[in-house]
Amino acid sequence: MTVRVRIAPSPTGNLHIGTARTAVFNWLFARHHGGQFILRIEDTDQERSRPEYTENILAGLRWLGLNWDEGPFFQTERLHFYQDAIQKLLDQGLAYRCYTTAAELDALRESQKARSEAPRYDNRHRHLTPEQEAAFQAEGRTFVIRFKIDDSREIIWNDLVRGNMVWRGSDLGGDMVIARATDTGVGQPLYNFAVVLDDMDMQITHVIRGEDHIANTAKQILLYEALGANVPEFAHTPLILNMEGRKLSKRDGVTSIFDFQKMGFTAAALVNYMTLLGWSPPDSTQEIFTLEEAAKGFTFERVNKAGAKFDWAKLDWLNSQYIHNMPVDKVTDLLMPLWSEAGYKFVDGRERPWLEQLVTLIAPSLTRLTDAVAMSQLFFTDLVEFNDEAKTQLQQDGVAAALQGVLTGLDNQAQLEVSDAQGIIKQVVKAQGVKKGLIMRSLRAAFTGEMHGPDLMQSWLLLHEIGLDQPRLQNAIAVGK
Ligand code: GLU
Repeated sequence: MTVRVRIAPSPTGNLHIGTARTAVFNWLFARHHGGQFILRIEDTDQERSRPEYTENILAGLRWLGLNWDEGPFFQTERLHFYQDAIQKLLDQGLAYRCYTTAAELDALRESQKARSEAPRYDNRHRHLTPEQEAAFQAEGRTFVIRFKIDDSREIIWNDLVRGNMVWRGSDLGGDMVIARATDTGVGQPLYNFAVVLDDMDMQITHVIRGEDHIANTAKQILLYEALGANVPEFAHTPLILNMEGRKLSKRDGVTSIFDFQKMGFTAAALVNYMTLLGWSPPDSTQEIFTLEEAAKGFTFERVNKAGAKFDWAKLDWLNSQYIHNMPVDKVTDLLMPLWSEAGYKFVDGRERPWLEQLVTLIAPSLTRLTDAVAMSQLFFTDLVEFNDEAKTQLQQDGVAAALQGVLTGLDNQAQLEVSDAQGIIKQVVKAQGVKKGLIMRSLRAAFTGEMHGPDLMQSWLLLHEIGLDQPRLQNAIAVGK
């Protein structure tokens, strides 16, 4: 048997973390078994589906590297196929037209509430005669198609994550609506029905999805049986929770996978983190791996039942590891748009080789790519503002003279190497009898406006290349006087 799994997002919103993590697990399972991963867009809810959400979902999956083998398939392109199946169920007496109005359903719900009963449809139109149907139609009532659910049925499956699951037909809310009436014919299929037909047609062997679908699974198993199909295996993956233990939501600041990109996370770190949201690798000390590596060890025995807490600190740590180990040219590629967005101008010597030197300097300090904006600002502005600490440093005795000495030393220095810079400092120490440490601290203050920052010598060389070291020294001397 070839394993065939799918991710089936509804384009009623952007690709969010829950769906993306489900996609990761599907992908890993497919790859582990050398099977196929299929993408299906469940757009039967035509009022809420939008093409831009489909675009966002496809782009998000691509960004994460979750390439699919077949699809995308769109349910709206398959409506006829569902309608034939609905007709078959009607013909076999397994489904029927229900003419109950919205007002009648409301009244039913109210009376159940008054008796403290769970809301459910009371199957009142299960056995309408042709005359009753004709009368309802004459009244102008529209209908939905309901599939009969036997209250006494037990629905049992062995969930690959949650183990033995037992549901009773009576827990499913009465006969279920599988299609709504449309002007054109039998009806517009609803999720639970379309999903079963698609999974049958696409020969899906394992349905891997979020645990919020468990109640649907019980209903869907009844549909598979009614349609005479093999029931696939099911795996319900744990929810993603925030640190307070509640379901991760918009309030946690992430609605789309691309929010993570905007926050400065790399796709590789995010996808690595998602594999760890509910799954632990066979070697539990290993935390950094590619999707391919994770696929080798991926089994459902190692997926937790309990909700997976979303730990930002862990994601930050993983992200920093990915950035620190990424080739400089790749980091540079990722930073270019961020610098442009920040309004930084790539003029006066700030060409690619220079930018890569800058990246070499700052990349080891990056946690998120976006950190690079503030960190590299001092290389994209002419003069820096001195903070109080830097001002105090620059106003110390002997500092202005020492910096003047450095400036003079730079006079005939077209190119500057580390050895040249060190030579200049040595010269000033010797000529003025000041401590090297004082000069170094003053240079830091002069070049960066602060007392902390990236490696001083490398920063100096970079500033020299774009002609910014001398103006900053002059400015610092003026502040010190
Ligand atoms: N369209 C459903 C969703 O987005 C898919 C559920 C399933 O995988 O069956 O939640």
